[in-house]
Order: sequence, then C-alpha cells, then structure tokens
Amino acid sequence: MHPKNNKANLKIVKGILALIAVSLGAIYAKNPKNIIFMICDGGGYNHVDASSYYEFGESGTQVYEQFPVCCAMSTYSASGNKYDPEKAWHDFKFVKKKPTDSAAAATAMACGIKTNSKFLGMTPLKKSIANIVEHCESLGRATGLVTTVPFSHATPAAFASHHNNRDEYHRIAEQMIQESAIDLIMGCGHPEYDCSGQSVLNRQCDYEYVDPHLWQLIRQGIIGADRNGDGVDDPWTLIEDREDFLALKDASEFMRVLGIPKVFKTLEQGRPGHEKAPPFKETWIETVPMLHEMTEGALCMLDFNPDGFFLMVEGGAVDWASHDNQSGRMIEEMLDFNLATQTVVNWIESHSSWEETLLIVTADHETGYLLGKKSGSGLFGWLTGAEPRWRPIENRGKNQVPGMKWYSEEHTNSLVPFYAKGMGAQRFQTLADEHDPVRGPYLDNAELGRALFDVMQQ
Ligand SMILES: [Zn+2]
Repeated sequence: MHPKNNKANLKIVKGILALIAVSLGAIYAKNPKNIIFMICDGGGYNHVDASSYYEFGESGTQVYEQFPVCCAMSTYSASGNKYDPEKAWHDFKFVKKKPTDSAAAATAMACGIKTNSKFLGMTPLKKSIANIVEHCESLGRATGLVTTVPFSHATPAAFASHHNNRDEYHRIAEQMIQESAIDLIMGCGHPEYDCSGQSVLNRQCDYEYVDPHLWQLIRQGIIGADRNGDGVDDPWTLIEDREDFLALKDASEFMRVLGIPKVFKTLEQGRPGHEKAPPFKETWIETVPMLHEMTEGALCMLDFNPDGFFLMVEGGAVDWASHDNQSGRMIEEMLDFNLATQTVVNWIESHSSWEETLLIVTADHETGYLLGKKSGSGLFGWLTGAEPRWRPIENRGKNQVPGMKWYSEEHTNSLVPFYAKGMGAQRFQTLADEHDPVRGPYLDNAELGRALFDVMQQ
C-alpha cells in the first residue's frame, strides 16, 4: 500500500472518530446547570388530549408536545405487573392488573430502581438508596419540591425521604423538614384549614400530614437542618398567603421557603360544590395560589444559587380527580399543570437557556383508564371473539368536556407520555429502545431515574 494511501486512510479514520465523538458528545451532553422535573400524577395520553380539546379545541397543542424528545414510558413497580405491549393491546383488562402506586413510581424516577408499592427511597429489601435530590445537593445544587397535594405525600416524599410506608406522614415530614438539606418545599396539608380554605382553629385542626409538635416549631420559625453544609442550621420560613407566594418572584434574596397554602388536602380539587360539575363551574378558592404561581416563585428562589438547581413540580390532584372519575376537576387540574409547564418554559427562555437547563415533563402512572366511549373487551368478547376496543376520546370543541369515559377508579399499567427538552434531553431518546405497537418507542421509569444521575454530574 502506497504510504500516501496510508496517510489518506488515517485521515479518514480520524475524521470518522471525530464525527463519532461529536455525536456522542451531543447524545451524552452532561452537566445541565438546572434540571426541572415535572410530574403529572395520574396523567395519561388521554388526560393530555382531554385538556387540549377543552383548552384549544384540538390536540397536540401543548408546549411540551413540541419538545424534541417525545416518547412513552413504562411505570410498573417491583411488586406489580411488568408492562407487555402485546398483552396490553390484546386484553382490555391487562393494564388494570397490579399497577404501580405513586410511591414506587416516584422512587423509580427519583432513585433509578424498581421497588414495592408504598416504599419511598428504599429497595424492596428496605435498604435506603440515594435520591436525585440528595445527589444534586452533593454537587452544590439548590433543591426544591412543589406539589398541589400535601407536602409529605407520596410523590414529593420519594424525592426527600426514606421509608417503607408512604402513610407514615409524620415521620416523612420530619425527614423532610427536620433532617433534609432541601432548600424549598411547597405543598398542601395545612392543619389549620379545611378543604374549602376556611380556618378550623375554632374547631378541630387536622394534623394528618404533619406532627403537631413539628408544626409548632415550623410556626415559630426555629426548625430546619443545615441546608448548605456550613455547619449551621437553616430554619425554614413558613409562607401561607397567596400574596406571599406571588411576591417570591420579586424577592431580592434567597429564603428557605416552606410554602403551605391555607387549605387542607389540595388546592382546588377538594373544594365544596358538585364534584362532577363541568370545569370551573364551582366557586374557586381565591386565597390559595395556583401551581404555576408556586412554580414561578420556586424557580426565582432556587435561581439564587449560582451553581444551579434541581426542582420537582407535581400536579398531584390530576390523580385525585381521576380516582373519583371527576372529568371537570381533572380538566381543571390538567390546565393548571399545563400552565405551570408554560411558565417553566417562559422562565427558561427569559432567565436561563436550553443550553444549561433540562426540562422533563411526564407522569408517574395513568389513573382512571380514561378512553373514548364504547371502548372495552367487546360484549361477551370471550364468547363472540369480538375484538377489544380502545376508542379515542371525542373532541367537542373549545370549552367543552370531550366525549370520554372512565373505565376504572384505580391506576393502570398503561404507558404514559414522556417529553424532554434542553441540555441532555437526547440521552432519554436513546433509552427509549423498547417498542409499543400504539405508543411507539418507550423507556422505563427506573431507566429515567438512573439517567438523571448520569446527566447531572459535576
Ligand atoms: Zn393515585
């Protein structure tokens, strides 16, 4: 071989290697400064479409549906039924069998492992395992959790505590408030208010979600572990009034905010009135913030950390409305979640950039088996051989509840939508290497959890 050819070949090989390096670099871009992780609890594909039909009169219009990474995700738990694409679209009842709960699903996303239902930040053998919040803190990032349901409830708790029983709210709240280094927590569960936002001080306070003694310490502003590693405890600052949540975006300095709105279980989904009324028909509680307002305040607080942050935002009551098959309230909760995602996108584009921030929007599982009418196994399908049917929901135009029906009051093992944009987003596309005949490529929730650790390095 002529020496010149050798040289030319070497050049070609070098060129190819450089190309591979660049593309790998693009795929495995690391170190987003900020990660914003948004979870629509119980929100499946049809919940998204229902909200779009009501909001815009057409589907596919949500800001997150335009993201460069769009795929599906499996959500089954260690104690549940493994998702099987073939069975899922041949047996109408398959996805109803042994679905995950929110604790196991959130633990998979927060810690990168499959665990049992009810478990938080623990393996099936009850061994504590680090979560992405603790990982980000070890890298000097600020950390925050925002939810529309109680702050010590399953999803935020999986990012902030380690326990084998999600119902042990007092112990979980202790871990979050008294022991963690988390910089910001916002969520419901206020013991001095009821679900209509009325004070119960002259009646009976309800300490379901936080121990009375811990609550007194919170009220006195004297509780909170060392959040920034300087060896000095950092007490939480309690905010309750909507105005105080709104004021955070104009704050001139960081505050370790514990934001507990003046309402018991959840912002609006539990308010009085006809539970199955159309969206926005029943009187709204004006004294509590909305998810997008809490989220904007949280972003501004965490952005005081020059080294970046990790923020988890949960639209928790989508699940609660779906368990009760409340179409109107489910749409209300979805619209608030959609508005919160738009608020985050606006914030990234005005205060940060997609070159330094990763935004993920997904769900922990589907709730309510929401489908178009006349879906089902087919009348005596087992006898007549009638094919099961999964009909799409029917668009009835803007401000109209779509034609749809709930086929369960529980979670399902259905695949959920997954969207990502920004630094490191491509990484998740490469993980979607399994295929579903209806939803296409999909990744698994534990893979997502592990990838978050990989993406967030020094
Ligand atoms: Zn649920």
